Amino acid sequence: MDDIRNVIIVGSGPAGLTAALYAARADLEPLQIEGREAGGQLMLTTEVENFPGFPDGIMGPALMADMRKQAERFGTELLTADADAVDLSARPFTVTVGSDVHRAHSVIISTGATARWLGLPNEQRLIGKGVSSCATCDGFFFRDRELVVVGGGDSAMEEATFLTKFASKVTIIHRRDELRASKIMQERAFKNDKIDFVWNAVVEDVLGDSVVEGVQLRDTSTGETWEHRTDGLFLAIGHDPTTGLFRGQVELDDEGYIIVDEPSTQTSVPGAFAAGDVVDHTYRQAVTAAGTGCRAAMDAERWLASEGLVA
Ligand code: NAP
Repeated sequence: MDDIRNVIIVGSGPAGLTAALYAARADLEPLQIEGREAGGQLMLTTEVENFPGFPDGIMGPALMADMRKQAERFGTELLTADADAVDLSARPFTVTVGSDVHRAHSVIISTGATARWLGLPNEQRLIGKGVSSCATCDGFFFRDRELVVVGGGDSAMEEATFLTKFASKVTIIHRRDELRASKIMQERAFKNDKIDFVWNAVVEDVLGDSVVEGVQLRDTSTGETWEHRTDGLFLAIGHDPTTGLFRGQVELDDEGYIIVDEPSTQTSVPGAFAAGDVVDHTYRQAVTAAGTGCRAAMDAERWLASEGLVA
């Protein structure tokens, strides 16, 4: 039975690495399956100015490298590979990576979520250079600039409204002539003098060599195309939680996010905990993810003790 871990953490964004830090400092000797593309969404960000403790800001990848080093310092074992399968139907739980099957008394799921992108030819190249999926993270860099927000849901209304704090003008591009957003969020956007709408239009490409200079739009009813000048393209077309591995294992909500027994991080399976954006529809911030990662490690530690699996 010695090869059974106390805890395996799947995922390595701020939630997973904070869970690892706390679990390691509690002597649980966690194994972290960090993924082939470790570090989560902050690896795609440039400067992070809203993570407390960094008054001059820090680059997203540097923050993640420091979190990783801190988790490792207290004995977290990191495995740079994707988990291929998870079995939470019997204890010990198993996490399969290639031909290796890792066993554990408890599991912390922190696989995050990914922002939806439009799949434009130049979109990925210009991420961090005017293309963003997070107004809260990047809005501040666009003082007195003109911006475009794509989407017609609550996120698009919220992000556009937030961006008017900085931008001189925000244009919402929506593919239909009717918004999906709740009435109250719509009203707020309609009342804002700095917000304009372009209806029945889709973005066909984002333009610019080193930074965003415009977008190519197409009218969905007439097929007409034109260029719209902008300094930034903010996408607000939804997020997808990374829960494919856990479908049928733990209870998910209609949108695929893991359901936890708030305020704890306990999933529908005792001994399996979840933290970060894989649970969170609402806040989706590095600092909120880190906070729930801490809670998940503490919940796992208490659960292991209650089961008599650790002292
Ligand atoms: P959402 O409600 O799914 O809206 C996504 C929007 O993006 C829709 O308007 C959709 O257009 C558009 N869209 C999707 N794919 C597109 C594509 N390929 N090209 C162009 N447009 C595309 O997502 P969300 O706004 O992120 O909201 C997710 C959930 O969080 C919702 O339940 C929402 O109420 C909640 N939320 C709440 C708040 C708040 O209350 N403060 C804030 C943010 C989010 P169609 O309308 O044509 O489908």
